[in-house]
Amino acid sequence: MNILAELIHQLNSGKLRVVDLTQPLSHQTPLLPLPAQWNNTPAFRMWELSRYDERGPAWYWNGFETGEHTGTHFDAPIHWISGKDLPENSVDRINPRKFVGPACVIDVTADVEKDPDFLLTVERVKQWESAHGKIPAGAWLLLRTGWSRRTDPAQYINQSEEGPHTPGFQKECSEFLARERDVLGVGVETVGTDAGQAAKFDPPFANHYVMHGSGKFGLAGLCNLDQLPPVGAVVIAAPLKIVNGSGSPLRVIAISEAK
Ligand code: MN
Repeated sequence: MNILAELIHQLNSGKLRVVDLTQPLSHQTPLLPLPAQWNNTPAFRMWELSRYDERGPAWYWNGFETGEHTGTHFDAPIHWISGKDLPENSVDRINPRKFVGPACVIDVTADVEKDPDFLLTVERVKQWESAHGKIPAGAWLLLRTGWSRRTDPAQYINQSEEGPHTPGFQKECSEFLARERDVLGVGVETVGTDAGQAAKFDPPFANHYVMHGSGKFGLAGLCNLDQLPPVGAVVIAAPLKIVNGSGSPLRVIAISEAK
């Protein structure tokens, strides 16, 4: 059997489908708000170069600028101080083999509806494994929270006086996933891979600290995780090849059996 020919056949037949895990990227894309003493990220900005007009009679194109961590985006290990000296730690140096990996999807939507500050625990991961099997090395752990249904930017960031309230990971859970399960990284529906309150964790932004210090990646701003099975889908997430880049917006897709 020619595996790649079979893949295309199954995509054409509809038995396999491509699920888009990416949010639209525009000037309206919500941004992570950092406390004012730190530099914040610029919004996505686009300007027209020509549109079949005197600036270019037969073509339409734009320029754009963006932060590396805007919208649906990839976090590379060099993004965090804990990963700054690791090999292959920037987006241009990562082995492209790592841009394809199986997805393990943990659904905590009901918990997050009750508590927006919900944190994934080791115990919860082990519960999931007792139903779906051990997370294989080299898998993406995708945290399905339902958060991407929040289309209003204010509700998506969910800022209060104490900072944002969005779900994430306990530090011990990040350590377990990175060291005991050797995941590729974690993917989330929220604006970043740490919980909204994680500036107060020890260390601050503990998921970033642990994951990137272990050479693992992050995917933020995902959507359509409700269209994936708990196991069996394959994620393709290849960031732009920005030289020394710490991350980049990207199109994340999954190949999954049709439900
Ligand atoms: Mn990021």
